[in-house]
Amino acid sequence: MVAVGPRVSRLRAPNPSPMTLDGTNGYIVDGGGGAWIAIDPGPDDPAHIAAFVTAAHDAGARFEAILVTHGHPDHYPGAAPLAEATGAPVYAHTAATFPHDRTLADGERVTAGAVALIALDTPGHARDHLVYVLEGERALFTGDVIIGIGTVVIAPPNGDMRAYQRTLHRLRDGYGDASVIYGGHGPEIHDARAKIDEYIAHREKREAEIVAALAHGPATIPAMVETIYRDIDRRLWPAAARQILAYLIALEREGRVTATPRNDALTPEERALLDPDLSVIVSERHAAIVRAELGFGAEPPRLVDYALTR
Ligand SMILES: [Zn+2]
Repeated sequence: MVAVGPRVSRLRAPNPSPMTLDGTNGYIVDGGGGAWIAIDPGPDDPAHIAAFVTAAHDAGARFEAILVTHGHPDHYPGAAPLAEATGAPVYAHTAATFPHDRTLADGERVTAGAVALIALDTPGHARDHLVYVLEGERALFTGDVIIGIGTVVIAPPNGDMRAYQRTLHRLRDGYGDASVIYGGHGPEIHDARAKIDEYIAHREKREAEIVAALAHGPATIPAMVETIYRDIDRRLWPAAARQILAYLIALEREGRVTATPRNDALTPEERALLDPDLSVIVSERHAAIVRAELGFGAEPPRLVDYALTR
């Protein structure tokens, strides 16, 4: 357990991977008077759950609530066994489909001792995503909306690019002055406004690149990946394909792009991007996380020609 703020400690899960960086960040908020709140107990890893329980025991504290940011398999599965071990209720988004005891709508608060955490409905990365604000310190627990290093994946069907962009703008407008961002992965972020601005600009730049690629004529997602992500590690191309799809769905919804399905069979290269064998990219243990994060398998892979609307 590492102290990362006056009332906040981090317990990082032992699940490092390309999708989770050094592992999923779990957090403990000390409300004073022995009242603690856990955030994102992570995967169902007995040693990791035991670390939460032991930390409270050694400090003479008890968990009064377990908060989950979203229903991805590197964030929520540890919540149920931690609840079992501590008797604390699990709180989640009203749209959450994993086991939980109580729901939190936008603006609702959970208190422990002298602290309150406010839930913000922050869809985009996942439909059931909550960001938590530690009132008083104006610290944000952002889950996979903002992480310490790099950017996050916005993959359909659970991910929605425009919802994500609205979430980023809401965080910047309402919490750009946050003292610190505790992300779901990676280190703490101390310049909240600069990081949120960087995230907003990154999304706008990628979208402009996609529109620019289509200005040369209709293209499929594999063709766009090869152009736009030319300089990026090929192992990340299947993830890039899902990101591009998220932008194209938004553009199509707005009438700026048309999508015309093709009937030709996928080439091996196209299949490797649109329907990859994840077990050759990551270990089987991590494949479930990647599948959930990237939304593979949600629909049968097919080639689609995308074109700018004239
Ligand atoms: Zn996630």
